Amino acid sequence: MSTVVSDYFDRPCKKITKVFHSSQFMKVGDDTASYDRIKTRLRHKASLQERHMPDKINIQKDWIRRHKENEELEFALLQRITCLERVKRQKEEEQPASSLIHTPGPSNPKRQVTLAEEHYFRCQRASRALDYDKPSGSLTDEFDFLRHHRNSDGQTLAWEEDRIACALLGGCCGRRCRCCERPLRCYIMPDSGEGKEMVGFHGHCTAECGCCMRHRGFYRPDSRLKALDPELATKIAVFNKSHYVEEDSAEEAGDPVADALAVVDALKRQA
Ligand SMILES: [Zn+2]
Ligand SMILES: [Zn+2]
Ligand SMILES: [Zn+2]
Repeated sequence: MSTVVSDYFDRPCKKITKVFHSSQFMKVGDDTASYDRIKTRLRHKASLQERHMPDKINIQKDWIRRHKENEELEFALLQRITCLERVKRQKEEEQPASSLIHTPGPSNPKRQVTLAEEHYFRCQRASRALDYDKPSGSLTDEFDFLRHHRNSDGQTLAWEEDRIACALLGGCCGRRCRCCERPLRCYIMPDSGEGKEMVGFHGHCTAECGCCMRHRGFYRPDSRLKALDPELATKIAVFNKSHYVEEDSAEEAGDPVADALAVVDALKRQA
């Protein structure tokens, strides 16, 4: 059993919260049996709370839902930035640098990258604000435990848990491309000693994943993100060998995909 995991396992649940914030980058490696025991213990505590203090559990569920929604927005924004960067590079290759005309309008991918980066920054701040506002309890403790511990490949245990949901929703985890296994972004973070460590931020597929667009054959931009100029959205779709579907055209046609997505959204909110 690794020191980190045995530390958690031996501590009473009440004290776990304090330890979670000491580092974002604890490694569990292959010691999955130990973290399974911690999860079982926290879940058992949560089921007791659910029976005796349902309000306390609902507050925790609401906080986790807000956290997950915010995180999913982060995934979508980083995937959109990747698509925009590719379109931008393609445009630069087609036009020699000297003849580039910078149109600062809505169809300019560079401008949209800046706006998406700004939105991403706001999401990061929202995530930090939620961390400060964390309700105590075994559900939120488990959630934090999974977010702050990584496997030997550098992905968080929370990311591991979400792979099945990603595959069921037709995401890259259900194919051999291994897109989700690669980080959406890397950060250099101070480690527990004096050095620095490269840490990846891994996500799962959203409507903005280019690889999923190729497999689905269409691109319907995530409605929670800033609306894209149709010309630029079409370029993203074409780059990914798919077709652009406008924001509200699916609802007008009573598209079952839109209905299914609405059901999935509703289920996610209940979870
Ligand atoms: Zn993929
Ligand atoms: Zn994907
Ligand atoms: Zn995935």
